[in-house]
Amino acid sequence: MWFDSHCHLHICEQESSLADLIGRAEAAGVHSLITLGTDVASSRRAVAIAHDHGVYAGVGVHPNDADTWSDEAAAAIEGLLSDERVAAVGETGLDFYREEVPADLQRVAFCAHVEMSKRHDKALVIHTRNSVLEVLDMLDSEGAPERLVFHCWSGDGAALRRALTLGAYVSFAGNVSFRSAVDLRAAVALMPGDRLLIETDSPYLAPEPRRGRPNEPANVVHVGRAVADALGVGPEDIARATADNAAALFGLQGTG
Ligand SMILES: [Zn+2]
Repeated sequence: MWFDSHCHLHICEQESSLADLIGRAEAAGVHSLITLGTDVASSRRAVAIAHDHGVYAGVGVHPNDADTWSDEAAAAIEGLLSDERVAAVGETGLDFYREEVPADLQRVAFCAHVEMSKRHDKALVIHTRNSVLEVLDMLDSEGAPERLVFHCWSGDGAALRRALTLGAYVSFAGNVSFRSAVDLRAAVALMPGDRLLIETDSPYLAPEPRRGRPNEPANVVHVGRAVADALGVGPEDIARATADNAAALFGLQGTG
């Protein structure tokens, strides 16, 4: 039984019905997932999807949408955090690859998410792109929340050690299956078994053998197989460990 620790069903549902997406996930053995909002409207949608389909939601404003951050947005996100199906604050972080949103706006929004994660004792879901060292520096100086995850990991070994020292979980996405991703598979090999997560980041970044197509939660099985191959263990071991780790990270009682 697999757990997809990061997807965006509010985007996936533009291509495929939620009933189909979740039906295919269940048929593939994916028993639970977290769908993350990327702004206020999609965070509300994520919560509604979580209630309608028995999954979990994360609420937050993505760094690429941080120009929509405001007192009103903060209040709206904070209001959603008391919902019983909301298991995470995010997706948040810093993205210095795309330069559409000024870095200072991203920093303000990210700091506010870190504070909300601590105040509500919900896991923090962090996006980094060309920014992992600054994110680590900020968490070192502000203090990391008790439960946090770096999603779609792409940093080097030194950054990975710093993330683990902060107590973070680290999640690997479909790019770990790409033939060229030697460094990512080396990072997987450095992971303690109790901190490892897998995700699809649907609808982005479909793993081999689905690369280039819209991604969906059913494909977390392929991510898990790539991770299992990198570690020389069976996929069922990765399924069990990553589902247990997701339950611990997101504070879920059981994983139904
Ligand atoms: Zn994402």
